[in-house]
Amino acid sequence: MSQKLKISLLLIIVIGLAVSSFAAGGGKIVAADPTKHFDPKGKMPSEFTIELQNGLRKSLPFEDKRDFDEAKKGFIAAPEYKQIMADAGHVAWDMGSYEFLLTDKEYDTIHPSLQRQAVLNMAYGLYEVMPDKIYQIRGYDLANITFIKGEKGWIIFDPLTAKETSAAALKFINEQLGERPVTAVVYSHSHADHFGGVRGVVEEADVRSGKVPVIAPIGFMDHAVSENVYAGNAMTRRLFFQYGVLLPRSPFGHVDQSIGKNTAAGNLGLIPPNTIVEGDIEEMTVEGVKMVFQNTPGTEAEADTNTHYPHSKAS
Ligand SMILES: [Zn+2]
Repeated sequence: MSQKLKISLLLIIVIGLAVSSFAAGGGKIVAADPTKHFDPKGKMPSEFTIELQNGLRKSLPFEDKRDFDEAKKGFIAAPEYKQIMADAGHVAWDMGSYEFLLTDKEYDTIHPSLQRQAVLNMAYGLYEVMPDKIYQIRGYDLANITFIKGEKGWIIFDPLTAKETSAAALKFINEQLGERPVTAVVYSHSHADHFGGVRGVVEEADVRSGKVPVIAPIGFMDHAVSENVYAGNAMTRRLFFQYGVLLPRSPFGHVDQSIGKNTAAGNLGLIPPNTIVEGDIEEMTVEGVKMVFQNTPGTEAEADTNTHYPHSKAS
């Protein structure tokens, strides 16, 4: 299929996803009363469930709190707002809807391991990963958005699912650390939570003209299309069942998605990359920052790359 046709098809599905699955993913955010089931027919956990949960609380190593300390490392600031609005007028993102997790209550309706992970995923705001070199905004979407400091601007590694959340992340880091332009973007792999928000951080014209390199692994467009277009409906259905994203946020409903809280319900888009990592291992220096890419197809995604930053020994 021609590249142009592939891109048109992708745009069609992207528009479809933006108004269906991803909007549903959190579009109508209902933070239900955490003390009772949101459904009139819903039941409280049975004595058997409670017994099972208590057994797990005793047998799993919850006394090991190191992850909680590590998750706080490098914290700089959290924004005052909890909601990020979509351009379409609805709420695209709402960390406030998960605040039932910030009490010490152990919920018998949540597997204890899931609750632990869900609390760790409440990390929200700007974090320093490597002093003066690498920063992250966490808790704005399913994935984290990473900012690598170049000579003049930011190299953004994975711009989230939605334009609105990625734009809010860029605005927040610039408010905290000083205004810097986005001078490059890396898509680590072909899953939408790692490229869908690109339009919130760069202008398409600057990518087309080559002013801003957008770097992606070999096969990125083929797999972004095959996953989101050809298998789009099946993937959307899987997303609903796998994550329960249509449920209200509550200890009886949506709690977390383990790798992050949820997908943002904003405008999902794509700008085709203008720089492809072709070889098994390739080095590029952008804005004085050396990046070593290793194509790893068929791993986390069909098109995937590891990236090593020798200047901070980070990958
Ligand atoms: Zn992925």
